Amino acid sequence: MSEDSFDLVVIGGGPGGYVAAIRAAQLGMNVACVEKRGALGGTCLNVGCIPSKALLQSSHHYQTANHELAAHGVKTASVTLDLAAMMARKDKVVAELTKGIEFLLKKNKVSRVDGAGAVTAADTVTVKAGKGKARVLKAENILIATGSDTAPLAGVKIDEKRIVSSTGALSLAKVPKDMVVIGAGVIGLELGSVWRRLGSKVTVVEFLDGILPGMDGEVRAQMRRILSRQGMAFKLSTKVTTARPSKSGVSLTVAPVNGGPEETLKADLVLVAIGRRPYTDGLGLDRLGVEMDKRGFVKVDEDFQTNVAGVFAIGDVIGGAMLAHKAEDEGVAVAEILAGQAGHVNYETIPGVVYTHPEVASVGLGEEKLKEDGVAYNVGKFPFSANSRARVNADADGFVKVLADAAGDRVLGVHIIGPAAGELIQEAVSVMEFGGSAEDMARTCHAHPGLYEALKEAAMAVDGRAIHI
Ligand code: FAD
Ligand code: NAD
Repeated sequence: MSEDSFDLVVIGGGPGGYVAAIRAAQLGMNVACVEKRGALGGTCLNVGCIPSKALLQSSHHYQTANHELAAHGVKTASVTLDLAAMMARKDKVVAELTKGIEFLLKKNKVSRVDGAGAVTAADTVTVKAGKGKARVLKAENILIATGSDTAPLAGVKIDEKRIVSSTGALSLAKVPKDMVVIGAGVIGLELGSVWRRLGSKVTVVEFLDGILPGMDGEVRAQMRRILSRQGMAFKLSTKVTTARPSKSGVSLTVAPVNGGPEETLKADLVLVAIGRRPYTDGLGLDRLGVEMDKRGFVKVDEDFQTNVAGVFAIGDVIGGAMLAHKAEDEGVAVAEILAGQAGHVNYETIPGVVYTHPEVASVGLGEEKLKEDGVAYNVGKFPFSANSRARVNADADGFVKVLADAAGDRVLGVHIIGPAAGELIQEAVSVMEFGGSAEDMARTCHAHPGLYEALKEAAMAVDGRAIHI
């Protein structure tokens, strides 16, 4: 067996792992990054953020060409779908971006090690690739960044043919006629939107009595109305008990959560999107005595260190918001901590975006949480229907809502449904990061005509002085 020594061995080449590896190398460490997928970028680049956003963009173009361009005076002959070309474009974007990460690791002199890593001692990672000999890496510190995987659902076996996870739903060879999505969370609504736009009749079955749990209640209710109007059907407070695939499709048995008669749903395709579980398979953490919580998330302290000295963890595998940018920020922070610096992540200002159309974006607390915490707050709201740029663009669904502390006016949460909400939210994130107030946002000059003006107006509305409503 060959043997190498590193200051840091990172297991997992996703947004948490590769960013930590690069930052640690920048800070002078000798770093190896172990990845078993055959490509860098993790879930995010290979089967998550990037391919889903590529299909959302392409399917949005298809929808626009079919239904919206005529209103702008742009006439098209009949619009047809070339699904194979759409998928090929998505694959090309993914391939180019994963190659980009390869380049970045090389540029920063991070050693890339292909294969599955296991932590065989607190200072040793053993890597197996195919049938070849295991390679032993000695490490001053080890970072677990192995991410997450689709959560399974009892009674519903994913075969990635008729019953698929998000990974299968990103590579379908044809548009399903009837599609049932289990789970009205981020994946269900994004991928449900892709296939609805391309022609599927989509029914979303959700256990809870509303969509997008955890978000501000008003946003959840309005987004449900908007998606229903677009043609997405919702079966809320409903559980799936079994799903039986056959040659002709899938037969699902569903029942109301609060009791009542069962019902049978037929679908050509079922997407299971009920959340993700931490992925630690084959890592040997039990053997090493690394503590995990009862859901399997690796437990860490404020320095991202596990209970085993020298073994750290970040990203989806430690839980919290399962988002690429949260994993990346933790990657930077842990590398800086290892270098003796003050690495830190502000969990109060991590934005969340749902890339439907319109988009949903949120940072900080929603009204329900503020009430629960007994915080007195003021609300400022501004609809995109009163924003000139949104009207010019014929894209005026949604609103901006600013929630500010009643005593000091500090911004506590901003929630947006609207065009480019995922970009607009960044202004609110910056304001909150600096501890800014609604008054700060209201007094900041915003270019006209711009979607950003809706944020300024919502901030002015906190004090009852919006101009355009
Ligand atoms: P991962 O990206 O999961 O990377 C972990 C890597 O570790 C994987 O490549 C895996 O192969 C490797 N690995 C695991 N075990 C081993 C081992 N033993 N040895 C070697 N390698 C190993 N987040 C957003 O912020 N925005 C989005 O738009 C978004 N869209 C998404 C869409 C979908 C369909 C999905 C599924 C997720 C999406 N996410 C999105 C979530 C995002 O992908 C994750 O939060 C992010 O990838 C987590 O990063 P990570 O580095 O912790 O783990
Ligand atoms: P999610 O947690 O967002 O939503 C899961 C939904 O399934 C919830 O509404 C939940 O109530 C419901 N559910 C759970 N069990 C159920 C059952 N038995 N029957 C019916 N419904 C059930 O999870 P997801 O959509 O699978 O996404 C997983 C993770 O990936 C999320 O945490 C998210 O952070 C990340 N992600 C992010 C983005 C983005 O940032 N745009 C996109 C996709 C995924």
